[in-house]
Amino acid sequence: MSFNIAVDGPAGAGKSTIAKRVAEELGFVYVDTGAMYRTIALGLLRKNADCSDEAQLEAALQDIEVSITYENGQQQMLLNGENVTGCIRTEQVSQMASISSAIPMVRAKLLQMQRSMAASTDVLMDGRDIGTKILPDAQLKIYLTASIEARAKRRHLEQEAKGENCTLEEIEKDIRVRDYRDMNREEAPLCQAEDAVLVDSSDMTVEEVVQRIVALVKDRI
Ligand code: C5P
Repeated sequence: MSFNIAVDGPAGAGKSTIAKRVAEELGFVYVDTGAMYRTIALGLLRKNADCSDEAQLEAALQDIEVSITYENGQQQMLLNGENVTGCIRTEQVSQMASISSAIPMVRAKLLQMQRSMAASTDVLMDGRDIGTKILPDAQLKIYLTASIEARAKRRHLEQEAKGENCTLEEIEKDIRVRDYRDMNREEAPLCQAEDAVLVDSSDMTVEEVVQRIVALVKDRI
């Protein structure tokens, strides 16, 4: 039987950096489900789909095929066969992913794909609803969070390094809006699973968080 680790938490808590490192250390496959939602969002943007029009959305979704491959251990996202990994981190895609991921039809499209990846392989899967909905029987569930201030500061530093100039206030506001949408949607809202271990990374280094999660896994193997 495969060993599954579910890591959920709000935007900017460091999930992907930490999840990648933990998976590497344990030899697990890292599955970034946010990237799947981003790929659908890119597909919807390219089709100019209107998310408030159900019939149009359904038609658009039928023409969007999402798949994953791994290149040198790195997850690659394919949209109708085209590798779009480099195109899904823009602000526009982030916004669309945050909006379209609240739509049940969009979530339903990804559910089986996520479950089947975890059924056959030791995976560390991160997202918003992995412990609560996708992998309710995961052997380890982590709810990784940090204060809004800490998350905004980290994102600000990342953006500065990329040469983008958003103010700290703008980033904080964006994080609050995304948190609100993720936590208050009807379908699979972001919340801590009852049996998840809470890790607050506000005052921890990446390495400290990685070692804490690795230790939790080793306790359960
Ligand atoms: O994690 P990331 O920011 O890349 O995710 C992009 C968007 O996809 C998030 O804003 C969130 O709304 C959505 N998402 C989700 N469920 C997941 C993973 C991501 O709703 N399991």
